[in-house]
Parts: sequence; C-alpha cells; structure tokens
Amino acid sequence: MRAIHRLSKILQPITIISKGSNNPHKDVTSKSQRLMLELGVIQQAHTGSFHFLPLGLRALDKLVKIVDEEMASIGGQKIMFPTLVKADLWTTSGRADAMGSELMTLKDRHNHKYILCPTHEETASHLLQSLAPISYKRFPLLIYQITSKYRDEMKPRFGLIRGREFVMKDLYSFDVDKLSAMETYEKVAGSYDRVFKRIGINFVKVLGTSGTMGGDLSHEYHYRAAIGDDKIFVCHNCDFSANVDLMKTEKCPKCDEGKNVSIQSSIEVGHTFLLGDKYSKPLNAKYLSHNAKPQLLQMGSYGLGLSRILAASVEVLSLEQEMRWPDSLAPFNVVVVPPKAGSREEATVGPLAERLYASLEREVPELKQNVLLDDRTNLTVGRRFLDARRVGYRFVIVLNKLSSEDPPQFEMNDLARNSQMVLQENQIIKYIKENINT
Ligand code: ATP
Ligand code: MG
Repeated sequence: MRAIHRLSKILQPITIISKGSNNPHKDVTSKSQRLMLELGVIQQAHTGSFHFLPLGLRALDKLVKIVDEEMASIGGQKIMFPTLVKADLWTTSGRADAMGSELMTLKDRHNHKYILCPTHEETASHLLQSLAPISYKRFPLLIYQITSKYRDEMKPRFGLIRGREFVMKDLYSFDVDKLSAMETYEKVAGSYDRVFKRIGINFVKVLGTSGTMGGDLSHEYHYRAAIGDDKIFVCHNCDFSANVDLMKTEKCPKCDEGKNVSIQSSIEVGHTFLLGDKYSKPLNAKYLSHNAKPQLLQMGSYGLGLSRILAASVEVLSLEQEMRWPDSLAPFNVVVVPPKAGSREEATVGPLAERLYASLEREVPELKQNVLLDDRTNLTVGRRFLDARRVGYRFVIVLNKLSSEDPPQFEMNDLARNSQMVLQENQIIKYIKENINT
C-alpha cells in the first residue's frame, strides 16, 4: 500500500516565539532561526546544536540527493571518515595551534587526546598515507562525505547558520601534479556551480580567503543576506568579485573601477581550496610515480555547509511571518486541504482528497513522496490554509463546494506567485508540471 503523508501524524511542534526575556528562545537572532523553530522544522538541543525534526530532515535529505547526484557526475566517491580523530594528526599538520580553542577536544580513558573534527584535510591525507603508495594510474581521486562537523564557535548564532555542530559535505581531491590538480579544481567548481543552480537561490562566487586552511587559491560561494557575517565586493564594470577580507581599497583591483562597485553582506555557503602539498607533505601522503618513485600528492578541499544552506535559503526567501523554501528543498511541495469534519462538503468532497493526492503523485514525477494531506479536519480550512502559508508549501490545494461539481474543481494557490485559481484535476497537474522548479 502506498503511504500517505498525513500532517496529523508528523512530529511538528508549532509554537510562537514571543518577544521578552522569559521565553526559551530569547537567543533567537535571525528570521530563519525563529521561523524554523516556531514551525517545528528544527528544535534546539543546546547552544549551537539542533535536532532535525521530520520536516527539517526531509529538506536536508533533498539537498543531500542533489549533492550526491552532482558528485557522481564528476566521479566523486562517497565515503565516511571517523568523526573522532587523533589530535596528533593536527599537531603534525600544524593546525592544532592555528585553530586553537575552536577545536573540540577530548581525552579517552588512556588519556589520549582526540578531536571532534571540524574538517578533514588531515584525516584524508592520513588515509592516503596509510594506503600508500597508490599507483599514479588511480588519480585523480575524489572522495567526499556528508557528516556532522564540530567547531567551538565564539558566537554560535542564527540557528543552523552558525552552529557548533553542523552538517558539512566535504570533498578531498588528490592529483599527481599541480596541473591536473588545477583541472580537478575547475571540475569540482563546475559541479558546485550546478549544485547551487539546482538549489535555485541566487549566489555569488568570489575569490576567497584561505584562513587557517592555507593553500594557493580559494573561492567562496555566498548568498546575499543582511544578517550575513561576511562582506563581498563585486565590481559591476568587470567580472571581479572577492571577499572584502582580501581587499585593501574599495577600488576594483582588476579594472581600477571605484564607483560601479558594491559591497554587500553575505552568508558563506561553500568554500573551495587548492591546497598543493600543504597537508600531503607533513602527513606524507604519496603516490607511486610511473618510474616507481613515491611522490607527494597535490590536494584540493571543497566544503559545502549543508545545514547552513538550508537555513540561509529560508533566510533569503522568507517573509517575516511566513517561511519560504526553494522548490528544490521544500519538505513537501504540495499540501491538499480537505473540508472540515462535520461541514456540508465533508461527505461529498472528502473522499476526493486522497484520490487527488494519488493522481498528483502518479502524474507528476517531481511530486512522488512530496504531497502532504492536511488531515487535521478538526480545524477549519481557513486555519489550515494559514498554517500552509506559514510553513511555505508552495502549492496549496483546497477542496470546497466547487469540488462537488462534475468535473470537480479545486482552489489552487501558488504561494510563489501569490495567485489563486480554480482548476480541474488535469489542469492542476499541468500547472504544477509547468511551474515547479526542482
Ligand atoms: P565562517 O567564516 O562562516 O566561520 P569558515 O570559512 O570557517 O566559515 P569553512 O572552513 O570554509 O568555513 O567550512 C566550509 C563550509 O562549512 C562553509 O562554507 C560553511 O558553509 C560551513 N560552515 C562553516 N562553519 C559553520 C558553522 N559554524 N555552522 C554551520 N556551517 C558552517
Ligand atoms: Mg570558509
């Protein structure tokens, strides 16, 4: 039997976060954080750490699927490193000191020091060292994982946007020389462009800062948002753009333009690094060359903040009191709202709801497992419609007295267009097929 997603069964605690100091969410610092908490998408566990409730995890899973597909298209192999990593590796790379108190460290019963990894350049290099030396024929090698990362952030805030535990997709590339490492870097950059295009939020790719990561070249992906902790410089005269941390003047370093430029607040959602042998050298990650000599591998590292991307998307798109999602990540794309229990329409129209649900899933490939039935029929249609708007299901289909006509008609609301139409089933299917953007 095909499973029907019934809203009454979903763990989605809806609360209102009032202003004032004695509420449990007084540290709410952004619109997306407030909406995601209020509407039961996530729940705070402790500072900077969150439960993904069913709706939140559905959105995250959609993002994971997009990423997995694009990584497969460039030959990325999915793996999983341990999260708990020996602190020695970080002493060897020299990063233990550089990262300092941002590292989450702990000791086991034998008093050995470990790190809850914030990123895995050392781990990846160590893996290659321990398998080494692998023949040059096996490179380029692209390995990636999607796991929780840990950083003892000075100021965890904005919910998932700056957590102490967050979900990152991190990819590490290994090449036999600088030239092929650069080619791999370009190839991965292409796949990241496609990931961001598929998500559907306008993004800016800029020259990036290397921070404690080091290396030769880096780029960052940003979403523009007022709450962003970063600032990006964009020259509208040529195609130059950079994180302002790299700039000393407000003039474009490429074309010398000083007026037709902008500096905007933004959220960093992805970061790529061409690392050279910064990690492979201290950690001794080598390959076997064609004349059987061990040689240092050339590395790249590529991070996407998946939990941050979710929250940043909501931040960019949402209204003050209503959450909005890109179609690509919305927990559900359609909600069907049947009449209230005991209403005049209930007996005639009620049974149509599950039929409509089934045909939407059957006829629109994008809607498979993406339709929700708001079976909370103890509530009025109006109340459920308002909830649907707040949670931001793009297509809200209401059954009412028009639905008892032959053929039945439905009230179709498209939140992205702010429009309401009266349509028959086949017209609804056509409309969604033509307008959904997943
Ligand atoms: P930031 O400057 O925002 O602290 P970063 O430059 O230190 O980030 P990277 O080391 O480049 O972060 O990590 C790769 C990606 O992981 C970032 O582009 C971002 O999307 C995400 N990320 C980093 N820190 C956090 C965090 N504390 N919470 C959620 N996502 C994060
Ligand atoms: Mg970064």
